[in-house]
Amino acid sequence: MSKVLLISTGGTITMVRDKKSRALVPADIETFKSYMPELVGGDIQVDIQAFDPLLDSSDVDPKSWALMAQMVYDRYEEYDGFVILHGTDTMSYSASALSFMLENLSKPVVFTGSQLPVGVLRSDAKENLLTAIEIATAKDEDGNAIVPEVTIYFEDRLFRANRTTKRNAEHFSAFNSYNYPALAKAGVHITYQPHLVHYSDLNAPLLLHTSFDCNVAVLKLFPGIQQPVVRALLHTRGLKGVVLETFGAGNAPTDKWLYRELKAAVDKGILIVNKTQCNTGSVEMGLYAVSLNLMKAGVLSGYDITTEALLTKMMLLLGEHPDDTDRVRELLTKDLCGEVTID
Ligand code: ASP
Repeated sequence: MSKVLLISTGGTITMVRDKKSRALVPADIETFKSYMPELVGGDIQVDIQAFDPLLDSSDVDPKSWALMAQMVYDRYEEYDGFVILHGTDTMSYSASALSFMLENLSKPVVFTGSQLPVGVLRSDAKENLLTAIEIATAKDEDGNAIVPEVTIYFEDRLFRANRTTKRNAEHFSAFNSYNYPALAKAGVHITYQPHLVHYSDLNAPLLLHTSFDCNVAVLKLFPGIQQPVVRALLHTRGLKGVVLETFGAGNAPTDKWLYRELKAAVDKGILIVNKTQCNTGSVEMGLYAVSLNLMKAGVLSGYDITTEALLTKMMLLLGEHPDDTDRVRELLTKDLCGEVTID
């Protein structure tokens, strides 16, 4: 019998309406289980481990990521795969983080949740969860996991986690992977795309990384942005890394002050990575003259990475290599587990 460990962190899928405030709050795990009798007695053994208390994902932070990854790591040998129930709001951050934390992963870790609580009649919870469990145990003819990656399953698509972004607060199709195709589609059958899957070395042991440095920031450029704003952010005490959200193919205003501020920050050892504000496509510094200053200032290219993946990757690399900026710079511009396309 296949075995799955279901790790519940919370999210809408586990929520009920608070009697006083009428706002949605996570219930306890027993209430959730009472709505999911399908988890018991089927042909997959599902064991449950839950956060206490369950969280709205706005309260999930790097400590929670470490807890999730540790749960997978501690019970890695016991299970064929893992499903993580999580709120949709920050699921792409958590799932991206775990993709970097669990090095040499060779079993599926599938994140899912729902847009409506499990107790609501029209909820998307059951379909999402039951299909995620099936995906977490799916094996090929040789007995190897079909998708041994950290993924997000939602509505009818399986995506590589570190390629996803929450795109919709209303529709059941809450996530998209703009720069990489779906790894599977679920209809009557689940159709996998094994040629798109990232495989680690099956013989390499699973390594767990849990040190994060949160001294990072996202700087989103906009027409008319003023020097004091940029300066204040880049002079934040302890700042080590910045995701610079630029226009189009990685472009920025050509104001001399912007170049000077960025250059001064890079010279101080702050790592600045260029990430386009567009969902689809890649940074291509040097394509337009308006990106030349960024190159001259020493800003790195983020290519087609998502903000969620870039930020979590940066935080983890800074945490894991606190005294080695060169190593962090080198790894930041490398594809570690399928999160970026570098040509
Ligand atoms: N606020 C919820 C959360 O992220 C939304 C959801 O789960 O869909 O936990």
